[in-house]
Amino acid sequence: MSTHQPRIIEVAIPLHLDRIFHYLVPRGMEQQDLAGRRAFVPFGRRRLTGYILGDVTETPPHELKEIIEVLDPDPLWTDNELEFFRWVAYYYLHPLGGVLKTALPAGINIQTPKGSDRTDTSISGGKAIKTEIVFHAAAPGEPAPHLGSKAAAVLEVIREGGDVPAAELRRRFGHCSAQLKRLAELGLVTGDTREVYRNPFSGIVVERDVPRILSLHQQAALDAVCTALDRHAFAPFLLHGVTGSGKTEVYLQAIAHALEQDKNALVLVPEIALTPQLVRRFRARFGHGIAVLHSGLSDGERYDEWRRIRRGQARIVIGARSAIFAPLTGIGIIIVDEEHEASFKQADGLRYNARDLALVRGRMERAVVLLGSATPLITSMYAAEHGKMVLLTLPERVEKRPMPAVELAPMKGVATAISPLLPPALEATLAGGGQAIIFLNRRGFATYLVCTECGTPLTCPNCSVSLTYHRQRGQSVCHYCDYAIPAPGTCPTCGCQELKELGAGTERLEHDLRELLPQARILRMDSDTTGGKGSHERLLARMSDGSADILVGTQMIAKGHDFPGVTLVGVVNAEASLGMPDFRAAERTFQLLSQVIGRAGRGDVPGRVFVQALNSDHYAIKYAVRHDSEAFYRQELEFRREAGYPPFSFLACLGFSGTAEKPVEEHADAMVRLLMQLKREKGLRVEILGPAPAPLYRLRGRFRRQILLKAPTRNDLRRLIVAWQHNRKPASAIRENIDIDPVDMM
Ligand code: ADP
Ligand code: ZN
Repeated sequence: MSTHQPRIIEVAIPLHLDRIFHYLVPRGMEQQDLAGRRAFVPFGRRRLTGYILGDVTETPPHELKEIIEVLDPDPLWTDNELEFFRWVAYYYLHPLGGVLKTALPAGINIQTPKGSDRTDTSISGGKAIKTEIVFHAAAPGEPAPHLGSKAAAVLEVIREGGDVPAAELRRRFGHCSAQLKRLAELGLVTGDTREVYRNPFSGIVVERDVPRILSLHQQAALDAVCTALDRHAFAPFLLHGVTGSGKTEVYLQAIAHALEQDKNALVLVPEIALTPQLVRRFRARFGHGIAVLHSGLSDGERYDEWRRIRRGQARIVIGARSAIFAPLTGIGIIIVDEEHEASFKQADGLRYNARDLALVRGRMERAVVLLGSATPLITSMYAAEHGKMVLLTLPERVEKRPMPAVELAPMKGVATAISPLLPPALEATLAGGGQAIIFLNRRGFATYLVCTECGTPLTCPNCSVSLTYHRQRGQSVCHYCDYAIPAPGTCPTCGCQELKELGAGTERLEHDLRELLPQARILRMDSDTTGGKGSHERLLARMSDGSADILVGTQMIAKGHDFPGVTLVGVVNAEASLGMPDFRAAERTFQLLSQVIGRAGRGDVPGRVFVQALNSDHYAIKYAVRHDSEAFYRQELEFRREAGYPPFSFLACLGFSGTAEKPVEEHADAMVRLLMQLKREKGLRVEILGPAPAPLYRLRGRFRRQILLKAPTRNDLRRLIVAWQHNRKPASAIRENIDIDPVDMM
């Protein structure tokens, strides 16, 4: 590069702008490789933090501004990662700057007192970072000269520990700076300042465990994965294993194989705060070198984990959906546990699906991708059936433990929330020393209240939902916007004070169970009882150590917990989720029911399950009760074929919302007309459905309409949306969102 030629770089700005900007690099910075770092740049009258993508060779026709400052001494991202983020931006039709912002941990954006939107200056300097002094032995093998006994003891500890923080030495020896000074003078130890990582595990002691001897099915699955790892090429697998079949053990041994090859592992789980057990199993197997990323961490902790990963100090990263953006290099395997879970989908901002992106990143990294579930997505089963993934099955529970015996408890004509069949079974279970789980996917005391005089239901003024009565809190609450009034409240129409409580929630269930079984030790786990940090873990620990008999809860208790003492499971209102206005309602119901049923009988004593339902003929309930996912898959696939839903089509959803009803309606109508016109002009095969009110028509005071696009090919769908993006005129008062693949991708 000649010194006369100005250096120009591309910068992505995290604003709603679908383009990249060019800037000049000031003199003196020409030699640096700037890609993957943040820059502070002038933007109109503002100054913003942008992300440097790389150099450009052509000179743009217009005049350019200079960047103000490069904010990171080292790149935040590698070229490979930037390529992945570009793919994400392209696929989800989302500005690249927004994608990059989503990919960074919140802790990196610490505001400076200057008051601008300038973010923290670096990943190795700045106030987000804590430091400490660490001592290590300079010449570990050499015999020590004569030393005082304290200095000798200090030296021994340092030699043994490798890296010993000063604070640790103070804890063990009290004041020892004189000894340390002497040891340093003799050249036996050196002290360095290093960063301290806030360790989310600190204080947790984990016993080490060793790999289990695998069952034949587990071994066959592991062999297939290891063979693929040895080939160093992209290889997607679907691990379909019934609940308790030992999927996690397969993950652990597959990761061990990847580590032996000097590769790293990325593990995505639905909601890590709910699965402390899983993290503990990983720690027990692999010890250190594990980083955890999830929403329960403070910004500082998350930033620290991010930096540890970036510096190659973690070999295994476990995290919820955003961990798909973790700065892990040398990925050999990506595991998505419970791949069917809806929580892999981000519902606002960049609406990505981490399960889908695992396949994309895995392809780019030439890694093995292992999607595991007891109830895989219909689309995953279909992909496996058509050779797009390799299917691995674990059809039996570990050690040939039987699947639980499931009985239907018909609820026709039953007035109570709990079937009369359940209390005697609970009593027998507790008398025999067993534990029970009672599942109901509604929290609160009563899920709606109606006026006994005029029949008006109590609804939220901001959302189209009824208020839920929470007895302990003494409030009737909207679960979407947190609007709350003193409970139970008065009828908004006639002022009557008598409201009838309908629809039981978990709080009511807990209350009824306490009356039925006064001796039982009952816990409740739902988002009302798990607000505080570590509260999930405390509740789960009380089940694990046997200091509780019955756990009542929402879908939080359905996820992968392994309580060997649980021999009885009760499912209250099994069909609750069938009423959802979503073509996947049956699939979701089947998955949830199967998962809950699968919590029973995971130890030595076989499990028993009661499923309370009004409509037990529905195929989602019928096949879950029979543990028959194959039959469910066949029937659901037929329905999808007839209705033209995925996997037989590709979907996108355009959403429009605003605080005034009429403008939203008019805008959505205009958008449909534009889409129709573009479709005709370009001859695209896309079905345009709507606009229709969104499933929750009013939410937090906004009226919401949506247009659903359905196409036989992804290409036609994409071309229509891109054309629409270029041709539409946004209305200022209306918020828009694009949801590409509101369902999972294949
Ligand atoms: P899943 O993830 O399929 O629900 P897990 O991996 O949690 O199943 O396994 C269930 C239980 O069986 C765990 O306690 C696990 O430690 C144990 N387990 C798994 N594989 C084996 C094996 N091959 N031999 C003995 N126990 C096993
Ligand atoms: Zn509300």
